[in-house]
Amino acid sequence: MQIVLPAGPAIPLVCDSPHSGTDYPADFGYAVPLAELRKSEDTHVHWLWDAVPRVGGTLVRATFPRSYIDVNRHERDIDVTMLAEAWPGEVSPSERCLTLGNGLVFSHTTAKTPIYARRLTAKEVAHRIESYWRPYRHTLTQVLNAAAARGPRWHLNLHSMPSNAYERLGRVAPGPLADVVLGDLNGHSCSGAFTEWVARAFRCRGYTVAVNDPYVGQDLLREFGDPARGRESLQIEVNRGIYLNEQTRELLPRADDLRVDIADVLQDLASFIRNATPSLIDP
Ligand SMILES: [Zn+2]
Repeated sequence: MQIVLPAGPAIPLVCDSPHSGTDYPADFGYAVPLAELRKSEDTHVHWLWDAVPRVGGTLVRATFPRSYIDVNRHERDIDVTMLAEAWPGEVSPSERCLTLGNGLVFSHTTAKTPIYARRLTAKEVAHRIESYWRPYRHTLTQVLNAAAARGPRWHLNLHSMPSNAYERLGRVAPGPLADVVLGDLNGHSCSGAFTEWVARAFRCRGYTVAVNDPYVGQDLLREFGDPARGRESLQIEVNRGIYLNEQTRELLPRADDLRVDIADVLQDLASFIRNATPSLIDP
C-alpha cells in the first residue's frame, strides 16, 4: 500500500485506487498465465490520477493485485468451496462472488478460468485479510476520518473498466460503453449534486459519462459513503479502451491527454471544495 500526502495546503479530498496494484505476492500460488490474471487489474489508474496530491488531496493505493485479495469486497464475501477446510468466521458471499468468482479472494479469471489448481488453506486466506485487506481498510478509514475532522469531506474511489464491460457482466449492451462511469450506489453514497458536478466536469472536456450503468459501486462506497453526514463517496470508472492496450497492459499514447484532463478536473474540484468549505481550509 502507498499513501501520497498533499504536496501543499490540504483540502478534505481523499482518492483511493484499490485495484491498480501489480506486485504479485510470492505466496499467491496461482495456476493460470499471469497475463490472464492481469486482466482484472485497473492498471495505471493511480498514475492517471497522480495530480491528487498537487491539488491538496491524499492518494491511497493498493500495490498488490485485486485477484490476490480485493479490498473493495466485504470481509465475509468468501466462497467456501475454494477452501481446503472450514472457514472459522461467518461468510456471506455476494452473487458476484458465486457467479463470477470475484469475491474477496478471486476464484476465477475474467475469462472464467479457475485461478487455482488446489484448495486454499484457511490460514493463507486469513493471512491475506490480516496483512493486506485490513491494513488498507484501516489506513483509508484513518485518512478519511482525518479529512472529515472539521466538516464535510470528498472521497473518489478510482477504477478502470474493461471496454467490453457489459459482455463481462453477462448483459446486453444498451449502447456503447461510456468513457467514464460514475457510481454512487444509486444515490446512496454521495449527493446527486456532487455526482452531477463530476459528470459535468468530464462531459465538458469531451468525455461521454454514464451514471450507475453498468457499475453502481461496491463495498468501499457502502463502507464510507454517508452524504447525510457530509461524507461524499463516488466511484469513478474510466474505460480502459481510451488509455490502455488491454492485451499488453501498456499505456496508449492518448493516455497522456486523459491524465492532463483528469488533472484539470482535479484543479476545478479543489476550487469547488474550497468554495464549499471556505473556513476549513488550512491557510
Ligand atoms: Zn476496480
